[in-house]
Amino acid sequence: MIEEWGKGMDHRELEAYFRSLDRSFFVENCMKKYADLDEPLPIGFGQTISQPSLVLEMTRLLSPEKDSRVLEIGTGSGFQTAILAKMSAEVYTVERIDELMEKAKRRLEALNFSNIYYKVGDGSQGWHEHAPYDRIMVTAAARVLPDELINQLANGGRMVIPVGPPNMQELQLITKTINGDLHIESVEMVRFVELKGQYGWSK
Ligand code: SAM
Repeated sequence: MIEEWGKGMDHRELEAYFRSLDRSFFVENCMKKYADLDEPLPIGFGQTISQPSLVLEMTRLLSPEKDSRVLEIGTGSGFQTAILAKMSAEVYTVERIDELMEKAKRRLEALNFSNIYYKVGDGSQGWHEHAPYDRIMVTAAARVLPDELINQLANGGRMVIPVGPPNMQELQLITKTINGDLHIESVEMVRFVELKGQYGWSK
């Protein structure tokens, strides 16, 4: 079933951009020497930049297309944001930690992206002013599937989200049919930092 999805995405472009993106640009000086490792790395405030192979896999699952409007929850370092912005029309990205957002925004502007919109706040409630979204990527672990995100997903859209307790979560691929029916597929077990806020593990 998963093989069926993502036919509209240019996989070669995704892989070429992913390979060209210098991960060391997205981490602090003391972490730059580890940037080539396929591991999550600290970015401050108890948060991490995700393992690169998982970023690539989650982007493949999400399968943004050139005309997609994408909502991303958990901007973090901005690494995943850059990939989404390269592969889609517009990215609306929400991060709850002001300082992380400031740094991510500076990096993404230095890379000349002009199709990214930034918000500091509780992304577990989405960003309803710009809804609906064709794709929603959540890069922190939700306690439950957030109703608000389901409501903000367009018919025919897809969402990738880790759901479950802090130590281990199920990575879910949610698809909404043209008629608005939901399909939830469990992809694999993953480990993300906690989503905070209304649908997260704590405020
Ligand atoms: N995708 C990011 C990257 O490429 O660097 C890594 C994201 S990190 C694993 C998860 C991020 O989600 C953290 O920066 C954290 O502050 C943020 N976060 C947690 N709960 C949030 C919420 N309710 N709203 C917005 N961001 C949240």
